[in-house]
Amino acid sequence: MATTLLYNALILCLGEKDQIFDRGYLLIEDDRIIAVGDAAQLPSGTFDERIDCANRLMMPGLVNAHTHTPMTLFRGLAEGVSLFTLDGWYNSIRTLELVMTPDMVPAAVEIGCAEMIRTGTTTFADQYFFMEQVVPVVRQSGMRAVLAYGVVELNDPVARERELAHLDAFLEDMQGEKGSRIKGWVGPHAFFVDNSVETMLAERNLAQKYGAGLHIHLSTTGEEDEFCQRQFGRTAAQQMEMLGMFDQPLIAAHSVTIPEQDWRLLSQRPFSAITCAGASMRAGADAAPVVGMRTAGINVAIGTDNVCNNNDYDLFIEMRTVARLACYRERRPGALPAREVLEMATANGAKALGLQAEIGDLTPGKKADIIMLDRDEIGWSPLPTNDPFTALVHSINGSYVTDTMVDGVWLMRNRQFQTIDYRAAVQKQAKDAAELIRRRNNNT
Ligand SMILES: [Zn+2]
Repeated sequence: MATTLLYNALILCLGEKDQIFDRGYLLIEDDRIIAVGDAAQLPSGTFDERIDCANRLMMPGLVNAHTHTPMTLFRGLAEGVSLFTLDGWYNSIRTLELVMTPDMVPAAVEIGCAEMIRTGTTTFADQYFFMEQVVPVVRQSGMRAVLAYGVVELNDPVARERELAHLDAFLEDMQGEKGSRIKGWVGPHAFFVDNSVETMLAERNLAQKYGAGLHIHLSTTGEEDEFCQRQFGRTAAQQMEMLGMFDQPLIAAHSVTIPEQDWRLLSQRPFSAITCAGASMRAGADAAPVVGMRTAGINVAIGTDNVCNNNDYDLFIEMRTVARLACYRERRPGALPAREVLEMATANGAKALGLQAEIGDLTPGKKADIIMLDRDEIGWSPLPTNDPFTALVHSINGSYVTDTMVDGVWLMRNRQFQTIDYRAAVQKQAKDAAELIRRRNNNT
């Protein structure tokens, strides 16, 4: 039994109690928080580790609820196109994916994990193929993750059979991870891009068989609803309801153009909308109706999307973008208060991933997934201890994060990675990127 006492920090617990301790302590036993409180109640006794956190702000780790980590390899290679449309995606990313090989995936994923750890994300939801290469890297990084095997069929029955068999084998393998930090989910790409009704149904059945959730792209533009109206005579959400896809937890990346008439239905299902404001803005897409969906009772969380769309993993910057875009869309200052944005990036992300009992706030009994930020860093003075929320969302960025812990284990300590060899991954990726471009150019 290992114990760690962190004390002297400004602690934001978030969660229902929403406690703030000006000079607080947090006690960890193995992988869980066992006590949190004010300096006046500081526990006595001996602890394996005792750390003075003066000039640190401590809070729950952030949850990035939508990304594709292998795509760090493609950063900068899809500029000037919208990946929110079928044409944009197919003519840029797909040409790269066709020449990408499994050996290029580990360095790309390691870089994605490093950037998230560095900027305060402790849990993420990934969706991609090559999951056999993704899992070991995420395991080694120490991050918590829900990894969805992405099925791409593009109307090819051979690809469909092969991908569904891979998905089944992946979910079977992931049964061995039960109780660990990593879960396996199902990743239908998107309704109108390449997943047919047969595939969607097969994916739903596999999700049910293994008790997994689904991670899909939905309503990036009106293109999908037009397709579904033409094909099925109903909206994409209604079609998914018909197929029973909301029987399992489902996270829907983007959710920009879901018709308002479907919001009530979605609020009654285990459905979460994942807003990726930075990606939307870069794609020239509409602003997601975050305020409206939240008011309708839909769980809305935040994701970065891939780094061709974004192009970074900093969830603090993403929170700021979400908050500002919501005010801009609603034409109302304060339309999305900072405290609510923080909830979207913590508790709502946890709920989307089915992890609300384990993470999302600093309540005793929950997993010790915490981050600390440097209060001495320039840019957020004066920091009111009764409302640090606005500063966190509107004044700073992820480079203020000094320490990141998951499951009671430090993944970054005093800005030093503990589980990742970032420089080696960058060197490997430079070679992979050169080879990728060489192959793409030979192909065209
Ligand atoms: Zn995406």
